[in-house]
Amino acid sequence: MHRRTLLTLLTSIGLVRTTSAATGAPAAPPAGAIEPLRLSDAQWKQRLTPAQYRVLRQEGTEPPGSSPLDREKRAGIFHCAGCDLPLFSSDAKYDSGTGWPSFFQSLPGAVGTRTDYKLLFPRTEYHCARCEGHQGHVFGDGPPPTGKRYCNNGVALVFVAASA
Ligand SMILES: [Zn+2]
Repeated sequence: MHRRTLLTLLTSIGLVRTTSAATGAPAAPPAGAIEPLRLSDAQWKQRLTPAQYRVLRQEGTEPPGSSPLDREKRAGIFHCAGCDLPLFSSDAKYDSGTGWPSFFQSLPGAVGTRTDYKLLFPRTEYHCARCEGHQGHVFGDGPPPTGKRYCNNGVALVFVAASA
């Protein structure tokens, strides 16, 4: 009986760890971990290119295949083009064949999500946790280990290659 209880306990601990590792990013960043960046619309217009502004601040979508970052294969980190917060590692990037840079997980706490109803069916929009700039939508048809597909606008990202 005692042995069985111990085994159950160990298994449940193992399950918690496995689940945590598999899902990667926590649902929300720890409170106070990321200082929000809030600018006026005029300030954003000044700071961003028109294409960046349309995606980041107006939830636009760039044409598929338009971003060179879709074909970026080097090791490095993808930062938010609005505020430079690191959002994705090249370790989580894969070729989804959609024409948009795609990742199976974000860096921990780097993005927030909400449901949007711009199309006939609800989609999960995600945005930078610091400046709330729109990045893309997350879908459930990604590869292991998360099964998620973060479909990102390349124009909303800045790639910083790892130093060799
Ligand atoms: Zn940002």
